[in-house]
Amino acid sequence: MNLTKTEIEQKLEQLAFDRTTPFCYSCYKDAPTGTCKACMSDDLMRCLPVVGVEYGTNWVIKHILQEELTPVNLDEAFEESVRGCYEEQTTAGWMTLDTVSIMKEMDSVSWGCAQSEWESQEAEEGTIISFDAGATYYYASDIETLL
Ligand SMILES: [Zn+2]
Repeated sequence: MNLTKTEIEQKLEQLAFDRTTPFCYSCYKDAPTGTCKACMSDDLMRCLPVVGVEYGTNWVIKHILQEELTPVNLDEAFEESVRGCYEEQTTAGWMTLDTVSIMKEMDSVSWGCAQSEWESQEAEEGTIISFDAGATYYYASDIETLL
């Protein structure tokens, strides 16, 4: 699969619907048909068994991702990508040093800027996806295994 972010969002929403049941909070009952049989309300929450009851599906999606996937370790992933682009070791005078370690130590600001740029680029390309404005990222390929 190679889905766009919008397609992934739609499928996650579908997944959230599939895993939950409509729930009438006033009557405190399931309303599987989408209308509460007791009060006829269709203003229903979603119930995720054992987890909780709340309006909307965002919280359900968040829960599923948290439980079933591991967020991207951005520091590690960025470091890995840099290591793939440069010589592993750098010679300075008589010393042979680990390239990434000296880069980070010598100019942590430049390293940080490059990492944020890399993150935005990965997100733009759809390799990594965030549903909380960049606080947590998941690999699109991991999410697709759920769908
Ligand atoms: Zn009701």
